[in-house]
Amino acid sequence: MTRDKKRKAAVRATQKATGLRYTQAARLTPEPETGASAGPAGDRVGQSFTLQELLGECATLPPAVVDWGWDPEYEYQGPDVFQSKVLGAAIPFGTVLELAGELSREGRGTLLHLESLSPLESAVVSSSGQRRFKLIITQDSVYELCQQPRCSSHPENELIPWCRDHLAECDSGVLVDTARDWGYAQSEDAGRDPESREGAEGAAVLVRAAVAQGAYPRVVSVLLDACFEPDDMIDEVFWDPKDALAMRQAIERERLRLERIAETEYRRIQKETGACVACGKAFRYGVDMDVPARYCSTGCVPPPPVAAEPEPDPWWPAPSPDTDSD
Ligand SMILES: [Zn+2]
Ligand SMILES: [Zn+2]
Repeated sequence: MTRDKKRKAAVRATQKATGLRYTQAARLTPEPETGASAGPAGDRVGQSFTLQELLGECATLPPAVVDWGWDPEYEYQGPDVFQSKVLGAAIPFGTVLELAGELSREGRGTLLHLESLSPLESAVVSSSGQRRFKLIITQDSVYELCQQPRCSSHPENELIPWCRDHLAECDSGVLVDTARDWGYAQSEDAGRDPESREGAEGAAVLVRAAVAQGAYPRVVSVLLDACFEPDDMIDEVFWDPKDALAMRQAIERERLRLERIAETEYRRIQKETGACVACGKAFRYGVDMDVPARYCSTGCVPPPPVAAEPEPDPWWPAPSPDTDSD
């Protein structure tokens, strides 16, 4: 039922109950509830709730009528929505169910934080596990966003949860861990065939980010060991010397491919930067992959931020001191 029809039906009901004329009854009949009338927009922005609370609403609340504000000729009627109290906005049933699917590993107790909201358009929530999602309100759909707060880009892939720009800002420890996880997943997907582990875009993306951080040597070594086999394991894993040779050749081809990608990225960053961002000196001709590409030498790289404390997160409090440290 469109908003107009719903309104007419409500006025008729008032007429029937009061015996008033249509225009009089219309004055007494409240406007149908819309997303915008559910409190000022952004009411709930900054608040947290559990996935369970949102699912509970989705399972129990009735469908709501909203005025999408679209041209009446427009055939698309919009998804079925309900007025969520935890979001302070209308949200499609299907969008909530899709979010629950995305968060199935994290579980129903996952804490969600409402980062932003555009009523009848979209909302952004972040999970306590740092994942971020855009909830589409005009359709039953959800998509994951880069983990950097307020970034509206997509993550590179399931195992690289940042966009390219923010991946390149991750410190080398994060890049090494991400490369290891990505490599293991890649090797699992590929099975025993070494050639099918070569040439993946994910490896190229990780390597480019590593060049920006001066972490290429560590990242490429962890990545190749995880994605293929560490050299000292190859003869144990492959009892047939032909298979062992095929694995070693695949690793060398991939190492060369990634090296070329890394060097191209190193030159690209230096060309774009023009000169060392710390001392302003021109870059030397050679390639030193242990130095972040925007600096001329290790001496120019600023020391890491004081204290090894994790970066304060604007949304989530630091873990309590009694949390296990290892
Ligand atoms: Zn990003
Ligand atoms: Zn310098």
